[in-house]
Amino acid sequence: MNNYEYLLKDINTINGIGTKLSKIFKKKNINTIFDLLWSLPRDSIDRTNVVKINELQIGKIQTITVNVIKYNFPRIRKLPKRVFCEDETGKIECTFFNSYEGYIKKILPVNSRVTISGKVGYYKNKYQITNPTYVSSDSESIKKIFSTYNLSEGLTEKKYRNVIDEVLKNIPDLNEWLSDEILKKFDYTSWKNSILDLHNPKNIKKKGKFLNRLIFDEILSHFLINSKIRRTIKKVKKINKKFNNKELDKIKDKFGFELTDDQKNAIEQINNDLKSNHKMFRLLQGDVGSGKTIVALIASANVISSGFQVSFMAPTEILAKQHYTLTKKLFDNNINIKILTSKTDLRERKEILKDLSDNKINILIGTHSLFQEKIQYSNLGLIVIDEQHKFGVKQRKKLSDKGGKNCDVLVMSATPIPRTMIMTIFGDMDTSIIKTKPKNRKEIKTYSKLETKTNEVIKFIKKKIGQKNQVFWVCPLIEESKKVDHQSSVARFHDLKKIFKNKVGLLHGALSKEDKNNILLNFLNKKIDILVSTTVIEVGIDFPSANIIIIENANKFGLSQLHQLRGRVGRGDKESYCILMFKSNLSQNAKKRIDILKKTTDGFKISEEDMKLRGYGDLLGFKQSGLQSFRLADPVLNEDLFILAEKEVKRIEKEDQDFKKYMTLLKLYDRADILNDIV
Ligand code: ADP
Ligand code: MG
Repeated sequence: MNNYEYLLKDINTINGIGTKLSKIFKKKNINTIFDLLWSLPRDSIDRTNVVKINELQIGKIQTITVNVIKYNFPRIRKLPKRVFCEDETGKIECTFFNSYEGYIKKILPVNSRVTISGKVGYYKNKYQITNPTYVSSDSESIKKIFSTYNLSEGLTEKKYRNVIDEVLKNIPDLNEWLSDEILKKFDYTSWKNSILDLHNPKNIKKKGKFLNRLIFDEILSHFLINSKIRRTIKKVKKINKKFNNKELDKIKDKFGFELTDDQKNAIEQINNDLKSNHKMFRLLQGDVGSGKTIVALIASANVISSGFQVSFMAPTEILAKQHYTLTKKLFDNNINIKILTSKTDLRERKEILKDLSDNKINILIGTHSLFQEKIQYSNLGLIVIDEQHKFGVKQRKKLSDKGGKNCDVLVMSATPIPRTMIMTIFGDMDTSIIKTKPKNRKEIKTYSKLETKTNEVIKFIKKKIGQKNQVFWVCPLIEESKKVDHQSSVARFHDLKKIFKNKVGLLHGALSKEDKNNILLNFLNKKIDILVSTTVIEVGIDFPSANIIIIENANKFGLSQLHQLRGRVGRGDKESYCILMFKSNLSQNAKKRIDILKKTTDGFKISEEDMKLRGYGDLLGFKQSGLQSFRLADPVLNEDLFILAEKEVKRIEKEDQDFKKYMTLLKLYDRADILNDIV
């Protein structure tokens, strides 16, 4: 047996864990001994101080040494069994519920002297300890500082203690995987000693080299896998695409604006990938409205001109339609563009599928569900996925495989996230970033208003609608429950309807896809002027004449979310407004957040501030991504360790391509299965 294998054993192999206990652990997602190591001590209890009975403090956990005098064991099983004890200063009663007589007699023999530790109560004029946590004739075994853990139902402190002690006692020495240079940074603390330090009650809530080492291990295992995937994909040889700038020039004339420098850079990076004989696996990152679509379409045109097909996937139907319309407008007539969604009727669908496999269709646009479908392309050369940050590493790898060996992959994401998070979530891809927005953008004027001033807001939008502007009016979800989540939006809708008549639409999560689409189309075609909605306003859709957004109860939203919502406006060349409404005066923290929003429209800055205030876990749907699997590491707090790990992986890639030295690390941290999947 390799010595690390002990750690991967099922927890039911630990002495003292039976079926019942193992169920309790498994409910907490603790399946192996290794998993158990990350349930960290919550606090510590000091049982070193032994007091006399007349010094006891009620309600506290205390330790006393007493003589056992006599028992009172009632016949009725449900009643507590009592043991009377005393020292020279007073009396105390130990009460036991659900314990066997024999057990009590064994731990508390009459006339013996024992040390007892537990929570002190007071009942009918007497001190009492109910189910004492520790009882022993050897006072030294109790007089310690203990770590305490978050216990779930069915687990007593003592049981948990025994389990964790047993495990800590058996932790194997592992062959060191970290390089000397890295290890030096952590004072040469081995993995085993780091774990022991982590559980040492003296270190609770303390940071130290041991913690940093463990955090580093966690990040390293994650990054090594990312690296492996990236290199595995890149190893795939493909037929390189041959094209020149002709397509770009043709399209340029039609969209009628200058590309920004960042857009040009991204296009160049993508073109280089397309022309190389290795597969492209690239993330195009850019804030909402930074102009990613056009970059992807130029790449698509190039791929088509070099004789390949393109598959372009959008998150929603309406967005797929918008991309379709734009593509029709920009591309040459001789390029065959088709759209496939759940709405496409059966006959047309059949025809599209046939034409695709006959290489008669050059670009197919649809929703992400295209990915799930069995579609036969004749010569697929590029997959574009728009607005998809929820795909994990495995899904992306699958996507790349599915496209076949000549197929390049471009993923687009509008969620601006700090570098440490890009490294983590998209570390398996190369990245291009669009930082600056097109120049013609007017700043979005951002204001905050108290709800009592709603009338002023209505007056303002009335005037603006008169000047042919459109308005988003966002109401937050009140609760996670389907029934009530849209109540506030319904009420607002009815209020606004009294004033704006049939020029108001309502969109919320309980509507059918069909209804949602119709309402969005009505808004896009300006049949309505105000769209009241919960946060379901679809990502990515371009509503050029909607340039005012009102956000009610704005303190219910996180900064990044407010930024995303605000990004719905300000796309055309008209002045845009974002009005944040609040129920009552703002807290200091809320004021700080709003100030950040008012001052900057840089999504990267905002998301960084947001994470500083709230932690990374809350950030926009990242729960499903790889971040979730971190037990200790935090991309905000441990930025330096993330950067160190990235550097170290680059070094390792040169020296140990197969990560042989790191196999134990990868196996322990549950990444090896991914490794098996990909190689
Ligand atoms: P996103 O990055 O959020 O997907 P889009 O690609 O939808 O952004 O672009 C938003 C809007 O900006 C579109 O109306 C698009 O035509 C316009 N746009 C894109 N690039 C430029 C540019 N360089 N100059 C001016 N407008 C641009
Ligand atoms: Mg977009």
